[in-house]
Amino acid sequence: MLWISYIIAIYKDPGSPPPNFEPRPGQWRRWCKKCQNYKPERAHHCKTCKKCVLMMDHHCPWTANCVGHANTPHFLRFLLWVMYTNGQCCYYLWLRLLQYWEDRALPIYMVSKTTLTITIVLTLLSMFVEFSVGTLTLRFFYGIMFTGMSQIERWEWDRIESQHTTPRFYDKLSKNFKTIFGKDLPSSKHWAAASRVSNVERPFVDLDEIVFPYDINPWTNLINAFGYPWSWILPFGQPRGDGLTWQKDELLELDNDDISSMPWPPDLSHDDKEGNEGLRDIDIVDENNEIALRRRMVSQDQSSRMTSREEWTNGYGEGLSDFGVDVE
Ligand SMILES: [Zn+2]
Ligand SMILES: [Zn+2]
Repeated sequence: MLWISYIIAIYKDPGSPPPNFEPRPGQWRRWCKKCQNYKPERAHHCKTCKKCVLMMDHHCPWTANCVGHANTPHFLRFLLWVMYTNGQCCYYLWLRLLQYWEDRALPIYMVSKTTLTITIVLTLLSMFVEFSVGTLTLRFFYGIMFTGMSQIERWEWDRIESQHTTPRFYDKLSKNFKTIFGKDLPSSKHWAAASRVSNVERPFVDLDEIVFPYDINPWTNLINAFGYPWSWILPFGQPRGDGLTWQKDELLELDNDDISSMPWPPDLSHDDKEGNEGLRDIDIVDENNEIALRRRMVSQDQSSRMTSREEWTNGYGEGLSDFGVDVE
């Protein structure tokens, strides 16, 4: 079963958007320059697979494949079979070591030192594998079931959590809000209160107002990502849905002029067809003169060091590119 699930995890395509994909109204129109196509919600371009991957979780070096919408259940089954098989090895190696310990009264020439050393090394190794695969499995599974997030979306969430009080985040959000709902971002009650207390000069967005839209409830999250329960153990069990559109929290969809009903992540550029803003600025200045170009690049750098999505890293020091995402 381990090998079957491993082979499927390697060869099963995570899914890509169809050619000439058109986002629905209310979704980000994110243009992938590499694929010359729009990216569906939750999709990212993988720099290793060189294509857009639906609901991309990360690019896995062990399977040399992306983990995305269509192979998420296969990847989880693979992880669980690794844990089960390796757990068994670990158990029998421990029994063997215990046997050595019980036989410790035997004369030394009765015990093969090489076998003993190999047994100790293998036990340590299998404990290490069990621990590291276990951590990955827990992180992957917990994220999907209890937060509805892929690892990339978890990263986005952590980024927003650490930056929701910055001027840059506020500016992007209010610009996006106006583009989508055609009116100004309502000033936050929390902001009004905070500015009275601590003289905050600029408004900021309260984290409570930002909601991750694809987190329905743990049970539905599981079914959306891993398929129906009867198929979980089957080697070919599939997830629900087509990976192009995703079920959203119903309450958010009713609230259609609220920050919480904006597409995710809410501070993304609305239409990336011309490339991201920073690069476009640099290109324009380049035509005029070199000094201005350099100055612009430096100032761009300083502002991006503060908050840019491309440069931000989470508590583990991971940037977007560590999940395999092509940040261009
Ligand atoms: Zn792409
Ligand atoms: Zn990939």
